[in-house]
Parts: sequence; C-alpha cells; structure tokens
Amino acid sequence: MTSTVQPVPRPTPFATAPSNGPVPASNPRLPGLGAELQDHLQLRCSWRLTGAKALNTLANSLWGKAMIGAEYALRRSGTMPMAPSQLGVFAKSRPEIATADLEYHVQPLSLGAFGEPLHSYPALTASVCNLRPESRGTVHLTSPDFRDAPRIAPNYLSTEGDRRTAASAIRLTRRIMAQSAMARHAPEEIKPGLSFETDEDLAHAAGEIGTTIFHPVSTLRMGGEDAPLDSTLRFRDLENLRVADGSVMPRICSGNTNAPTIMIAEKASDMILGRA
Ligand SMILES: Cc1cc2nc3c(=O)[nH]c(=O)nc-3n(C[C@H](O)[C@H](O)[C@H](O)COP(=O)(O)OP(=O)(O)OC[C@H]3O[C@@H](n4cnc5c(N)ncnc54)[C@H](O)[C@@H]3O)c2cc1C
Repeated sequence: MTSTVQPVPRPTPFATAPSNGPVPASNPRLPGLGAELQDHLQLRCSWRLTGAKALNTLANSLWGKAMIGAEYALRRSGTMPMAPSQLGVFAKSRPEIATADLEYHVQPLSLGAFGEPLHSYPALTASVCNLRPESRGTVHLTSPDFRDAPRIAPNYLSTEGDRRTAASAIRLTRRIMAQSAMARHAPEEIKPGLSFETDEDLAHAAGEIGTTIFHPVSTLRMGGEDAPLDSTLRFRDLENLRVADGSVMPRICSGNTNAPTIMIAEKASDMILGRA
C-alpha cells in the first residue's frame, strides 16, 4: 500500500475521546501508574446482504425468536448457544511484514452501535483490529472519591502508523467482500460507506466505526528501569505488593488478551510460592 495518511483533522469519537475532567497528574510516588494504556481498536465494517440467513432478520420477528428458542430447546443448537463471532482470521495489513498484524471477528449481524437494536435487513459485520497498535492512552482517577468516574483517554489512532494500518485494514476487508464467493449475496457496504476513499478519509472513518474490543492492558507495566513494576511484578516503591493482571503487559500482545492474562497469573502464583 502506498499510504499518505495525514493526522486526522476532524474530531472522532475515540481518537479524541471526550474528557470528564482535567487530565490529572500521575501519582508522583508511583510514576507510570495509569500510563501507557493500550487496546485493540476494532473497526466494525458491515455489509447489507441479499438472500443470506443472518441474525438480524431472525431476531427481528416474534416468529424468528420463537424458532431460535425452539431450536435451542429441542436440539441445544442454533443461535442461543453460538459464540459472539463465527469466523476468526489473521491477516497482514502489508505484504512486507513478517507476521499477521490484523485479526478479524466476523458476525452474521449488524447494528448502529453497541446497545442499539440489530438492523432489520440481513447483514454481516467484519470487525478487524490492529494487533500491534502504537497509540498509548491513560487511565487516571479524577478525585479521591471512588464514586467519581476515572478519566479514560485511549488515544486510539493517535499515530500515523495506526492510521495507516486502519486505512489498510478497511481496504483489505473491502477486497475480501468483493471476492466472487460473496457475489451471490450482493454485498452493499453500510460501514464505513463507499464515500470514504482516500487514506485520510479511511483513517477518519476508522475513528467513526472503531470501538474497543475490550482488551485494555499496560497501565502498570512490568520490567525495564522506568516501569512501575519490577520483573517479579512487585511495585518498585511499595514493599510486598504485587500486581498480576492484564495491566502488567509492557505492550499489548498480538492476539486476544485472556489467555496471556491467565499465564501472567499462573507465573505470579509460582513466583509467590517460590517456584519460579
Ligand atoms: C465483553 C468482553 C469480551 C471479551 N472477549 C474476549 C475474548 O473473546 N477473548 C479474550 O482473550 N479476551 C476477551 N476479553 C478480554 C479478557 O476478558 C480480559 O483481557 C481479561 O479478563 C483481563 O483480566 P484481568 O485479570 O486483567 O481483569 P478482569 O478479568 O477484569 O479482572 C479484574 C477483577 O478484579 C475485580 N475487582 C475490581 N476492583 C476490585 C476491588 N476494588 N477489589 C476487589 N476486586 C476488584 C473484578 O471484580 C474482577 O474480578 C473480553 C473482555 C470483555 C469485557
């Protein structure tokens, strides 16, 4: 890809997340606490389909809902027990890189945004995320009162590399959907929409259709001289306190975060028991 993505000039929902207060200073006793947040931003590209059996249409009628319930009651199969995504794919955003930097989660449904109802027509969503984002955000308390919401600033798409990868990911998704195997379903792009063409447009669209895939990590990094935790997961400035969760990852892993978090917990328990 020959990319000329420029900084996104327009505000986008995530790239410039609204703040709920001034940016608080980090705790001087615990430098690095709440810094370096990383996440996989999923770009939820969706297509309207013809003649496909999709969850949208099934779940949008009483008859469809009854069928879903009956299938589960009689066969323990169908929509009720199905995983949130039916297809996963790893891909490269550029041919020259050694390993995949994109992950797809494909679902037989579409909706405007999380929490909104499914569209009334058959559709699919091909969610694609950048597995090696460069952008870093922050999470900070805004007051000593635990009832006050923290200020979470993910800073998605804040580097040119991330914007370039986002543009590339949307283009690749369009190419996949244009393959002859999909032709019988006459896919029509809903999101981001064909009006987004240039790299700059696509980077902006990524901010519009992008949302967390729920993999926040790295707000309390381990290892390295400047990290808040040492290599045994202990706070450098507090005795006898270790942290073992997704926040300790120095940078986000290039895949889903649950298994690596379990691995961190297993390793921590071995260290605490003196077995590692
Ligand atoms: C909707 C969703 C879907 C996901 N899907 C996947 C997936 O398909 N694959 C995958 O690999 N990962 C997935 N993840 C990510 C994965 O769940 C997380 O990476 C992982 O759970 C992180 O583990 P953690 O221990 O860091 O945090 P958590 O699992 O959030 O654990 C934090 C724990 O701390 C507890 N806690 C919080 N505050 C306090 C307190 N003050 N006192 C005591 N306890 C407290 C909470 O109750 C919770 O049990 C998903 C996440 C979400 C939200």
